[in-house]
Amino acid sequence: MAASPNVRWDLSALFSGMDDPRIAATWDTSLARADRFAERFRDTLDTPDVTAAHLAEGIREMEGIYQEAAKPANYAQLLMAADSADPKIGAFLAAQMERFSELQVKIMFFELEIQEMADEVFARLLDDPALDNYRHYLQVARQYRPHKLSEPEEIILEETANTGCRAWVRLYEEVMANHVFRLTPPDGGEVQELTEEETTKLLRDPNREMRQAAGDALTQGLEDLERVVVFTYNNLVQDKRVGDRLRSHPYPEHSRHLANELDKSTVDLVIDVCRANYGLVERYYRVKREILGLPELTHIDRYAPLFPAKAEVPWEQGRDIVLDAFGSFSLTLADRAREFFDQNWIDAESRKGKQGGAFCSYNTPDTHPVVFQTYQSHYDDVMTLAHELGHGAHASLSRAQTYLNYHGTLPLAELASTFGEMLVFEKIVAGATPEDRLALYGEKIETIFATVFRQSSLFAFEQKAHEARREEGELSPERFGELWQESVQEMFGDSITLGDQHRGWWAMVGHFFFAPFYVYAYSFGELLALSLYEMAKQGGSEFEQKYIELLRLGGSRSPQELMATVGVNLDDRAFWEGGVAAIERLVEAFERQWAELGPRPAQV
Ligand SMILES: [Zn+2]
Repeated sequence: MAASPNVRWDLSALFSGMDDPRIAATWDTSLARADRFAERFRDTLDTPDVTAAHLAEGIREMEGIYQEAAKPANYAQLLMAADSADPKIGAFLAAQMERFSELQVKIMFFELEIQEMADEVFARLLDDPALDNYRHYLQVARQYRPHKLSEPEEIILEETANTGCRAWVRLYEEVMANHVFRLTPPDGGEVQELTEEETTKLLRDPNREMRQAAGDALTQGLEDLERVVVFTYNNLVQDKRVGDRLRSHPYPEHSRHLANELDKSTVDLVIDVCRANYGLVERYYRVKREILGLPELTHIDRYAPLFPAKAEVPWEQGRDIVLDAFGSFSLTLADRAREFFDQNWIDAESRKGKQGGAFCSYNTPDTHPVVFQTYQSHYDDVMTLAHELGHGAHASLSRAQTYLNYHGTLPLAELASTFGEMLVFEKIVAGATPEDRLALYGEKIETIFATVFRQSSLFAFEQKAHEARREEGELSPERFGELWQESVQEMFGDSITLGDQHRGWWAMVGHFFFAPFYVYAYSFGELLALSLYEMAKQGGSEFEQKYIELLRLGGSRSPQELMATVGVNLDDRAFWEGGVAAIERLVEAFERQWAELGPRPAQV
């Protein structure tokens, strides 16, 4: 096993341990504060003569209460990530979440009263300088107002949802999670009983016969579930249609756009730019076919591995690569990232019981963010470090904001992380061997494709499915299969032939079921970061300062307003084409690298 550093985080800015007496004290104080808050502010907002000063005082107090209460809850989640095997931590986490809910129930009335304020009163307050810091918060709190129903209607919908749409989602999740996929190994061994996750993982096996066996097992397993899954999806799509009608959402994606604070025209533009550039996907897969040495690629070859990069990158070297790359763009960015190493805000060692994955936890602006990963000295660990420290530097700069404005808005959430990755990627490839370079380009391109182009093809399927269900009534498995094949095939052009076997694979995309139209946010966020990165390449030091200021603004404004501060108009096609140009350069570099290395036998 590759080397992992002895690097553990220091969480003492939060608490010293589960038995820290400050935890109980935090809850006592916060709950008492919430009671006093309710006494002072309940039934005081929805009146014609409410003042901006009164509303501002209420928001500030609510913000203060949430900021303190977030600390034990965050602390418990971090302990859990660091050691998920300890049952004491599990119980501790559950207790903190219960206290948090208890607190939330006491405070919830405040936002509901903001939503209920009369339009004229709200408009008057919104312009008042006393509420400058909370204008965005107020706008977000109000945006569902036109789509709210009367209180008794909301109660009926809420209570019946548990046996309605939420029950359908749970049925889907349970059926998929518990289904056994039977795989017949190509070497003639015994049939293996696998989960969906284990089976899809084998689509990345270097042995093509193994990938084919995994494809067979998936198709058969999904056919077993077809009646339940298709019926479930039909119901969820119809349920959304009914909800949209009752709440006056004019089209299926509307509620999602509202949550993302994006206009339909902006999202449609981004998706159109993606679709207009599907040719890049074709170009990449043509080279991949040559490298794999296959006459034709099908759906089972899409995720076939090329060959892994070989170099080892020890922790100290990984740290230096990231800090140098950040510093070559911005010394401020590098300083913010360096603080994570100097102050022990990173947990990077490999330990038993530690959860997988990586994240940056913002915590609160009056404490500090932390980064979590398991560093094992491969290039992709350096990329993960760059990603999380991109988030980390963003969080660190956003500490200039108050708690309610601290977190980035969702469509911009992956901006600084993707940006950081691009800075580091360029530095890594520059120092790699030619073979590693080819592997690195391939990995990077496939990661970007999975986020930008794949998600836009999934979005296309969803749009078609919701539209067809609205126009044609309940849809058959064949009809869903047809919409699925045409949406995904469009992306591949003639570089990959999706076989008939692939028709039912839409059923594996959980987002279609539990978060309709969520997928486009992935395309949007990644292309946004790449486009901004492209601007940075041309922008010089003036751009650097604007970028740092943008990160400092945290989530204090809408996506449009935030991007306007760096001179970006999200409705400008040329801006988004910049991101595509960045992807094209990667594809070109991949083609060039392959041409230089020359054809070689497929890796096994
Ligand atoms: Zn991220």
